[in-house]
Amino acid sequence: MIPFCGNPLNRASEKRADTQWVADRMRDPSSLILPMWKLQPFLIGQQKGPLETGFLQPGLCEPLAAPNAPCVLLGLEGDRALFALDISAARDPENEGPLAGLGVFREMRGAAMTAGLPDKDIAILGQAKAMIDWHLRHGFCACCGHPTLFADAGYKRACPNCRAEHFPRTDPVVIMLATHGDACLVGRGKQFPPHFFSALAGFVEPGETIEEAVAREIHEEAGVRVKNVTYFTTQPWPFPSSLMIGCYAEAEGRDIIIDQTELADAFWLEKDRARRLLAGDASDTIRMPPPIAIAHHLIRNWAER
Ligand SMILES: [Zn+2]
Repeated sequence: MIPFCGNPLNRASEKRADTQWVADRMRDPSSLILPMWKLQPFLIGQQKGPLETGFLQPGLCEPLAAPNAPCVLLGLEGDRALFALDISAARDPENEGPLAGLGVFREMRGAAMTAGLPDKDIAILGQAKAMIDWHLRHGFCACCGHPTLFADAGYKRACPNCRAEHFPRTDPVVIMLATHGDACLVGRGKQFPPHFFSALAGFVEPGETIEEAVAREIHEEAGVRVKNVTYFTTQPWPFPSSLMIGCYAEAEGRDIIIDQTELADAFWLEKDRARRLLAGDASDTIRMPPPIAIAHHLIRNWAER
């Protein structure tokens, strides 16, 4: 399973506008609440031991939240409701107050890569991170500047001044592997860690199809023309609110002209070398993206064909 995919929750969208139903679920002793502190999910356990997702019974972490802190309904698991609550107002919740000694707050990438959590929990944590992050960035109306109000169990912010409604955003990003014969095009962004190469990527722009965005980005960044764009799979990527759309494309040639404002380097990676890298060859001078990233799966799926 690609991390952040496979969310099993019933999002109960038909019930989210029913404020009484939502309030009842928040107090229901069978419900579970995930505290998020400064966008880091709570994990139960000790720093160096095994960790599990920090879902808590109602009443435990609520005193740590500011009065209007977002508490988002993630969905239903059977009859049980799951919420995410922002407790960023707490000073040091790992060491003070009702959660002290119970667990740790861990940055989202680290939680997804190292904590050994079930795939479904990583998907739910990604949803929680994306939703809380959206609320923290959208406290004011984009139309008139007035403070907005939390609504629909977290799936809307409403402006009481101009009546505008604002909805959680998902930004489409194309991430694509151009191939030519037995090689694929990989590049290094300027901000990448040393030695890492990955598939090229970029935001889809207004008025553009996925296929057009793939062709434009590869040409802009590497000067390569492509055709026959095909879809691989998608991945929710909560940093802060992207949907990664993985694609393949056939290059018309191998000449590369790098856009030096975007890329530090790019080259054609031969399939044999890609296979060795994915098998963990540490003697190579370059590194592939880790399994948390859809780019890893794009390259692996192509290399193993
Ligand atoms: Zn407004």
